[in-house]
Amino acid sequence: MSKFDVAKEWSSLGKPVDRDEWGMTVPTVNAYYNPPGNEIVFPAGIMQFPVFDVEVPQYLSYGAFGSVSGHELSHAFDSTGRHYDQNGNYTDWWTNSTVAGFTERAECFVNQYAKYTVPGPDEKPIHVNGKLTLGENIADAGGVSAAFAAWKKRTAETPNEDLPGLDYFSQDQLFFVSYANWWCGKSRKETAINRIYTDPHAPKWARILGTMANSRDFTESFQCKKKEPTCELW
Ligand SMILES: [Zn+2]
Repeated sequence: MSKFDVAKEWSSLGKPVDRDEWGMTVPTVNAYYNPPGNEIVFPAGIMQFPVFDVEVPQYLSYGAFGSVSGHELSHAFDSTGRHYDQNGNYTDWWTNSTVAGFTERAECFVNQYAKYTVPGPDEKPIHVNGKLTLGENIADAGGVSAAFAAWKKRTAETPNEDLPGLDYFSQDQLFFVSYANWWCGKSRKETAINRIYTDPHAPKWARILGTMANSRDFTESFQCKKKEPTCELW
């Protein structure tokens, strides 16, 4: 399969770009933003319960799938995507003051996530690489913020039912419960260490804690004492 894949990749060299080609298979439970194509892609695999479902209250889909789509959109304006213009060309199209403002706010994310650690082989903590995970963390923050705004707009038009048994949560709170539930996961110690060095995504638990700390909507929904987000970009 690897041989086939590499041969297929090389065979496209020198030919026009096929803009309809997907970078993931249909059953993949994932999504992506492709900067040169200026496109977001959602395979059928991710558009299913509990991430997305037309039969469940909308705050569940907006919290999970809405945040994923907001995440992919935000990649267009993260530390990598910001260099691509509306036609997917690699160019610097921002003013100097915008770049300066972005860099300052991005630095906050680098420091915030570098404080998260996983236990190393000798139990000494290994820090998350704030620079490696910067683009993903910016996209997480922007994604939740866009999805929550979309949910508020939608619920003003079409009211939703509460979830039986979970009706002590407000619907705004359930949006975030759905978000966190989707990112909840468990990995072996060795896998967690390996991912610190190779994965541009922060560990899943850090993606939940970090993103909630950066969401003013979260702190307001849960009436936290501290309302100011730790870091904020979009
Ligand atoms: Zn991403």
